[in-house]
Amino acid sequence: GFRCGIVGLPNVGKSTIFNALTAAGIDAENYPFCTIEPNVGVVPVPDGRLDVLADIAKTRKKINTQMEFVDIAGLVKGASKGEGLGNQFLGHIRQVEAIVHVIRCFEDDNIVHVEGSVDPNRDREVITMELIMADLDSVDKRLKKAQSMAKSGDKGLKAQAEFLERLQALLDSGQPARKMVLQGEAEERLMKELSLLTAKPVLYVANVTEDDVVEGNDFVRRLEQAARDEGASVVVIAGSIEQELSRLSPEEQQEFLQDIGMTEPGLNRLIKAGYDLLGLQTFFTVGEKETRAWTVPVGSRAPQAAGRIHTDFEHGFIRAEVIAYDHFVNCKGENGAKEKGLMRVEGKEYVVADGDCMHFRFNV
Ligand code: GDP
Repeated sequence: GFRCGIVGLPNVGKSTIFNALTAAGIDAENYPFCTIEPNVGVVPVPDGRLDVLADIAKTRKKINTQMEFVDIAGLVKGASKGEGLGNQFLGHIRQVEAIVHVIRCFEDDNIVHVEGSVDPNRDREVITMELIMADLDSVDKRLKKAQSMAKSGDKGLKAQAEFLERLQALLDSGQPARKMVLQGEAEERLMKELSLLTAKPVLYVANVTEDDVVEGNDFVRRLEQAARDEGASVVVIAGSIEQELSRLSPEEQQEFLQDIGMTEPGLNRLIKAGYDLLGLQTFFTVGEKETRAWTVPVGSRAPQAAGRIHTDFEHGFIRAEVIAYDHFVNCKGENGAKEKGLMRVEGKEYVVADGDCMHFRFNV
């Protein structure tokens, strides 16, 4: 699956944001194979291109692609030492591919802050340190094993131990594992095997009050500075607005957004940022019956894309007919693009580009 785990200290607005994300409610008819656990939200990925394509093709049915958010509650200071839900919570993070870290950037005397005051960068560090501590445990264990086995004189194991020592030193200095520079396949493989929490990509959500959603505030600016230094992005959201929006009809939503000077729900930005963080991109199938967006990891080849639709498409893949999104739109559809010679025939090695409109030919 393509999953972002939502983490953060208690009372920062995680559930508010998660509930708003899932309130949009996906049309179960379109997604019949999803098993939905209570803390997992299957969320349609907003994409204006889908409307444009469906308009051109005069399709009745439009289906967004989707991604998953997992609400991972229960992280507190000391989690890596078993405080709160401790290990259970950390296990949930292990199962997601990216981390959305919600940070409280609003003041409200009625809502207790577990650390006593609003301070985005302290909160960011509290959570990051818990994840680093958990990773240090994993690395320490693996290092002991490698060191004792390396006594046999095996060169590979010796290199492994040396790599783990460098990784341990990095974590010890308070840096996340994603900062580790990997050299060669063996290191990449070992890093994957370790499945470290701080190796996963992260983005920050600054949860602000309604008044600050357009301009931000000092808390947000401090967080943004720290995130920049880290190479991470920040999405500013007002949880309370999103909650309100999720209860309105689409028409009422438009009106409400206009009133507060927003062009789209903040959640749309969050979903897109999460999608990018996971390294995903979208291709389209455009037909008379339906226009549909599909997800593949960046760098996927055509048969892999075909396999998203049906495993038979992947196994029996012959070729793909591809029209770039811009060409499809400029030529007002498939026929126009064909006439201009802008429909390409691509084989097994073709690397899918974001926005490709594709047909697959396959043997059964
Ligand atoms: P969680 O513990 O991180 O899941 O936090 P919740 O989503 O349960 O939110 C904790 C409390 O903060 C609830 O009472 C929310 O209504 C409130 N809250 C969430 N977002 C905002 C916000 O943007 N502004 C204000 N003032 N309160 C918020």
